[in-house]
Amino acid sequence: MTAYPNLFTPLDLGFTTIKNRILMGSMHTGLEDGNQHARLAAYFRERARGDVGLIVTGGYAPNRAGWVKPFAGKLSTRGEAMKHRTVTDAVHQEGGKIALQILHAGRYAYHPFAVAPTRLRSPITPFTPRELSTAGVEKQINAFVNCAVRSREAGYDGVEIMGSEGYFINEFLVTHTNQRTDQWGGDYENRMRLPVEIVSRTREAVGDDFIIIYRLSMIDLIPDGSSWDETVRLAKAIERAGATIINTGIGWHEARVPTIATSVPRKAFTWVTKKMKQEVQIPLVTSNRINLPHIAEEVLANGDADMVSLARPLLADPEFAKKAHQGRADEINVCIACNQACLDHTFSNKTSSCLVNPRACHETELNYLPTPTKRRIAVIGAGPAGLSTALVLSERGHEVDLFDAADRVGGQLNMAKVIPGKEEFHDMLRYFERQIELSSVRLHLGAKVAATDLVEQRYNDVIIATGVTPRDPKISGQDHPKVLNYVDVLRRGAPVGERVAIIGAGGIGFDVAEYLAHNEGESATMNLDEWLAEWGVVDPEASRGGLALDRKRPAPPARDVTLLQRKQGKLGAKLGKTTGWIHRATLKTKGVKMIGDVNYERIGDEGLLITFGDKREKPTWLDVDNVILCAGQEPLRELKDPLVAAGINVHVIGGADVAAELDAKRAINQGSRLAASL
Ligand code: FAD
Ligand code: NAP
Ligand code: SF4
Repeated sequence: MTAYPNLFTPLDLGFTTIKNRILMGSMHTGLEDGNQHARLAAYFRERARGDVGLIVTGGYAPNRAGWVKPFAGKLSTRGEAMKHRTVTDAVHQEGGKIALQILHAGRYAYHPFAVAPTRLRSPITPFTPRELSTAGVEKQINAFVNCAVRSREAGYDGVEIMGSEGYFINEFLVTHTNQRTDQWGGDYENRMRLPVEIVSRTREAVGDDFIIIYRLSMIDLIPDGSSWDETVRLAKAIERAGATIINTGIGWHEARVPTIATSVPRKAFTWVTKKMKQEVQIPLVTSNRINLPHIAEEVLANGDADMVSLARPLLADPEFAKKAHQGRADEINVCIACNQACLDHTFSNKTSSCLVNPRACHETELNYLPTPTKRRIAVIGAGPAGLSTALVLSERGHEVDLFDAADRVGGQLNMAKVIPGKEEFHDMLRYFERQIELSSVRLHLGAKVAATDLVEQRYNDVIIATGVTPRDPKISGQDHPKVLNYVDVLRRGAPVGERVAIIGAGGIGFDVAEYLAHNEGESATMNLDEWLAEWGVVDPEASRGGLALDRKRPAPPARDVTLLQRKQGKLGAKLGKTTGWIHRATLKTKGVKMIGDVNYERIGDEGLLITFGDKREKPTWLDVDNVILCAGQEPLRELKDPLVAAGINVHVIGGADVAAELDAKRAINQGSRLAASL
């Protein structure tokens, strides 16, 4: 008996059966580019072994024009197809199924060979595409068909034709990117001809026993997006054209609505797929922010879809499906939807990985093999650096004592989890706690460790993961009672007045502003309806693209908050590449004032005295009840020198090593890699 009967019911497609309802959604990981087939094979092998029903690869261009970026993955020749055999064989050996995603970037291409229905540059790329001639459109269709045929030769079980997210196919559908006057533009019948032709000609070329998934943009989230009637017409035509499955696409990349970030409520968009369920008969896949088995089960039990697409959750834990099926859901390493190591890497041209699982996409080089020589190791600090080190060390067979001065594990993550919109950190902590329970690690809480204790214990190695201490900004008057720091506010629950100035606009300054702008106990991810209203998302039947014509004002902020930095330029410039804009937009709607180029002159009864830039303007008092210091952090590693002096093998990791630009991604990666090497 499984706790997830819907999730583990096989899906019969007639010519083949998918063993459960979990589809691994397509992700660009960077492994698609160049000849990295061995790494790809290892990456997908683990997911297939973890019992994913159907894997979809990252996007491959059907021709050079369709590249996402120069020399991105492409599949158009027999030679290229043969190289994929390593990947498809690996998946099949594990009893899995895999489809290749055909992705033509259209005007989102980051290179000068971009083509599109109309010569219009996108707001998120610097290249203006070439407008295709009528014959040029035919050439692109042939490229899709050829790519599908090559995929079959390469051993894939199917293809996913990428028709959403604002890429090439999607651009033909709406008038703001398609202003053609030939048979590929004009009325909707003409605009939807391209995807329908691609699917029907592909079906003809690959035969009946090959999976064709069509990823359909069910809600564009852009002005002048498709109407619901148009979307339904397209879905029905795609079904008739021979698609096996329709997958749900949510929002174009240029949409100004977050669709997968951590502040997006879980299963926030499955209602859109459910709407489409009434219109077509073929299986529908739903997606976005489904990160735990009980959420997936709820979605299926509610009849929202026939399958769920999990993408990032399978970076976080390749064994997601297996653990759920075996009744071990509490052992799943949960994707916290931070984007820090996956999407942010993709957009920085780095290989993707995962904050909570640094092995993701690094399966060939980061392995936790049994140790030939067992050692006694002390890990000091149970923040993410210490926790991941201790767990990997114990998995490898070492004897590990893990100490923390606090009464719970997690270090600073215990502050992150109280920020509205960061509730997922609770699950990350739950995962760590469960793993410690299951492991042989001896956990000592409430144990502030001194160097002498460690010297007496004669450990083979001591790992210092003691984190950081808040930076002292040395501002005149900072010992005034109205001054607090982020630890006072987030961990010690210090009362905060109605008018607040925050010194420092890094990740923590932004989070503290978010925390203080909300009323106590209010969560940004609690109520889906409110969240949709706040971002102006409506039923696509009510408004084109599912965007409200006028956006509802959010609840008034709990406080009057001013966020400050000394640098000139945009505040929060170093926040996540794909999420920084969301934090800035949220604070703006909450009325948080953001001021840069300031000098902090003094803190006193009147509040905070600031000047600007070269100080030519008169100093200004900010009349605030509290000044909150979020001015960065310094490493805390006082244990290091005495231990080194006592001749002990010492390793320093996480914030204790380098505090600048520290995040949980670096802490976990560094800890896991050190533990893999000892
Ligand atoms: P810490 O988490 O600081 O842990 C150090 C531990 O050592 C503590 O538990 C401490 O009690 C213990 N310790 C110290 N001295 C001793 C001693 N002598 N004996 C025993 N124990 C000791 N990062 C992200 O990646 N994404 C985010 O979204 C994010 N949001 C954040 C939001 C907030 C509000 C904050 C404060 C941080 C956030 N971070 C985020 C940063 C992230 O939490 C840190 O980078 C990470 O926790 C650092 O890990 P660490 O293990 O090095 O140190
Ligand atoms: P930070 O990002 O380094 O920001 C520190 C802020 O303090 C900056 O705005 C800096 O701007 C200011 N500052 C630095 N020295 C100062 C001084 N002497 N006096 C006054 N102001 C000073 O550090 P953080 O905000 O403490 O965050 C710590 C780490 O946690 C970050 O590296 C971050 O990656 C991580 N984190 C991540 C997230 C996330 O969502 N990914 C969230 C929270 C935290 P000026 O110098 O211009 O004034
Ligand atoms: Fe999920 Fe963050 Fe890992 Fe990406 S990096 S898969 S969002 S936990």
